[in-house]
Amino acid sequence: MNSKECRERAEQVLMHTYGRYPVVLDYGDGVYLYDTEGKKYLDFSAGIGVFALGYNNKEYNDALKVQIDKLLHTSNYYYNEPATLAAEAFASASGMDRVFFTNSGTEAVEGAIKLARKYYYKKTGCADSEIIAMEHSFHGRTMGAVSVTGTKKYREPFEPLIGGVVFATFNDLESVTSKITEKTAAIIMETVQGEGGIYPATKEFIEGVAAVCREKDIVLILDEIQCGMGRSGAMFAYQNYGVVPGIVTSAKALGCGVPVGAFAACEKVAAAFEPGDHGTTYGGNPFVTAAAVKVFELFGKLEVLENVKKNGAYLYEKLETFAKEHDCVVEHRGMGFMQGLEFDHPVKDIVAKALENGLILISAGANTVRFLPPLIMEKGQVDEMVEILKKCV
Ligand SMILES: *Cc1c(COP(=O)(O)O)cnc(C)c1O
Repeated sequence: MNSKECRERAEQVLMHTYGRYPVVLDYGDGVYLYDTEGKKYLDFSAGIGVFALGYNNKEYNDALKVQIDKLLHTSNYYYNEPATLAAEAFASASGMDRVFFTNSGTEAVEGAIKLARKYYYKKTGCADSEIIAMEHSFHGRTMGAVSVTGTKKYREPFEPLIGGVVFATFNDLESVTSKITEKTAAIIMETVQGEGGIYPATKEFIEGVAAVCREKDIVLILDEIQCGMGRSGAMFAYQNYGVVPGIVTSAKALGCGVPVGAFAACEKVAAAFEPGDHGTTYGGNPFVTAAAVKVFELFGKLEVLENVKKNGAYLYEKLETFAKEHDCVVEHRGMGFMQGLEFDHPVKDIVAKALENGLILISAGANTVRFLPPLIMEKGQVDEMVEILKKCV
């Protein structure tokens, strides 16, 4: 199948949920991707923040191959070693006590919502809980996650959604506290808003929300599906602020390519779930959790966090300079290897032009270019990216 034929056949048979770029990707190596025509791309999107360790890491690949030959799946009626080790690693990295593995980010959000509601139900005996979510947030595509997603066009066509959700303004503590009632079970937010345009929580805001949650026994759900797993320079972005959530959600880089997500909670909240309350057939199977175990191991071995701190700061510096040199840039935001440049016009053309020039970028909202490189990205490759970007604006 040549590239054109593949694209045409795909358009006939795949649902039209994406406006895809005219590229057929074939394989990856390190921070580079190659299409079926042999063209090379520097990847500053990492499959939307998934490939933290880059492509074709031999040790990761080998760990998966070993697990394939051993055991892929058992169901959750039995124990298995990889899930146990992955849960220990996740709990230790996040500071949470108990973990539930899912197949995706959106399912982790569903689980987090159910757990927060169950916690409230157990405490009050009432099934009338409310959740406060943020405007411009993104939490996934299933019905519960869509219900707490703050973008109207993602919600409205699918209404009625789950009830009891109210929206507040991100980084506006007063807006959040004014929405709290006796029935507030949970406040859900991304520590760094991703799809909404790369907006990190301010310190005052997240500290204020955490304090009011503690005071009123409201479950703080931090969605770290995009900003977690090292992307901010800390293992989880909330660790940069010194706050602790009641529930954290994860996915994307957790498996570095295999579909695995998780939600984890402190003991007090986790204890609300009893056998039968929640479940999954595939979730946390030995294959995907063996990948997660290896990911945690390689994060240490490759000193991933150190690299994000060092070269994330370098990327920050380069993009600051870029912003100063280009009047069309409205704002530069972000932290670590999760940064955004907001332009005064839609960035669709910049992203397309970058692709033509061998650079993979994605947008976040209409006007923001998002930089989510593999977490092993080096200084020279940051320079390479900036040179291409200059040609595209
Ligand atoms: C990507 C994302 C999700 C959804 O994850 P899926 O694996 O696509 O279901 C949820 N929340 C945030 C913050 C995300 O970035």
